[in-house]
Amino acid sequence: MSYLIASSLDEVLTSLRDGSGKARVVAGGTDLYLQDLPYGLVDLSCLKGTTVIEQEDDLISLGSAVTHTAAASSPLVLSRARALAEGCEVIGSPQIRNIGTIGGNVVNAAPAADAAVALVGLGAEAVIIDIEGNIRQEAVENLYWEYNRSLIDSTREVMISLQFKPCMDGEGSAFTRFAARRALALPMVNAAARVKLENGLVKEIRLVAAPVNPAPTRLVKTEELVIGKPVNDQTISMVERSAAEEVEVRGSLLRCSARYRLHLVGVLVSRALKTAAERAMGQGKAGE
Ligand SMILES: Cc1cc2nc3c(=O)[nH]c(=O)nc-3n(C[C@H](O)[C@H](O)[C@H](O)COP(=O)(O)OP(=O)(O)OC[C@H]3O[C@@H](n4cnc5c(N)ncnc54)[C@H](O)[C@@H]3O)c2cc1C
Repeated sequence: MSYLIASSLDEVLTSLRDGSGKARVVAGGTDLYLQDLPYGLVDLSCLKGTTVIEQEDDLISLGSAVTHTAAASSPLVLSRARALAEGCEVIGSPQIRNIGTIGGNVVNAAPAADAAVALVGLGAEAVIIDIEGNIRQEAVENLYWEYNRSLIDSTREVMISLQFKPCMDGEGSAFTRFAARRALALPMVNAAARVKLENGLVKEIRLVAAPVNPAPTRLVKTEELVIGKPVNDQTISMVERSAAEEVEVRGSLLRCSARYRLHLVGVLVSRALKTAAERAMGQGKAGE
């Protein structure tokens, strides 16, 4: 087996090309090292740019090898994309967060991966390059093929970065999850919300829940119900009911029953919306 610590994107693409499907990109390895290892590993975590968090014009961009620790403690992410900081700060344990990356979290394609759920809530898009040098940009929720299988083929494609619009004045985001323990436990359900208020009423909204489908899933019917309304107790109760009605969930012997999971979807989505709206109002009481 070969292991290359790449020093340029060209080197990554050449190594994948030479590997003819037998070499694969690795970042932190916290998911990949638990699977059957390929013939060759191409490590991109030392590449210039893959660990950068920056804002350019009206977009926040995070390199795909930004670790969960770096995202959760970034002043830019904390102030303009709080949902992502909250999603990253609950992943695994400090050791996992210090080495696991946001790109790996998305490409590993677990349906309720915490950073991925937050990124879908924020409306993030991934920038991807293939071994021929073609670049494409896709919404994160469109990168899922089936349960635990990404549409990004990491033997021939590399996610370079993730980009989304920062939350500006009048906007807020939040992430919530429920698990058996506070550390080292995958979530029974997690949820994210992003909301933009205008004159106290919802102008734009994204509500996301997982695991509901292979990909973190937007609750579009519930979103539509909320447009034009204040985020008050009545709206929060309506969201709790509607979110649970909008999805179908599976039970899991390891985590929880389908009935309990459905209850959690309503509770967590509505809590995420309430917190996001409070942040949009500058921590004031939302909708009043
Ligand atoms: C003990 C433990 C606890 C965990 N707890 C949680 C948890 O609470 N919540 C959670 O969401 N996850 C959890 N995880 C899963 C894991 O830590 C995360 O999914 C992590 O973000 C994966 O990132 P990585 O850099 O380690 O990915 P890697 O293992 O390096 O890669 C994962 C996959 O993505 C591909 N890949 C990585 N980067 C790229 C790229 N830039 N372009 C193309 N393909 C790429 C790889 O080829 C591989 O297929 C846990 C894992 C462990 C071992």
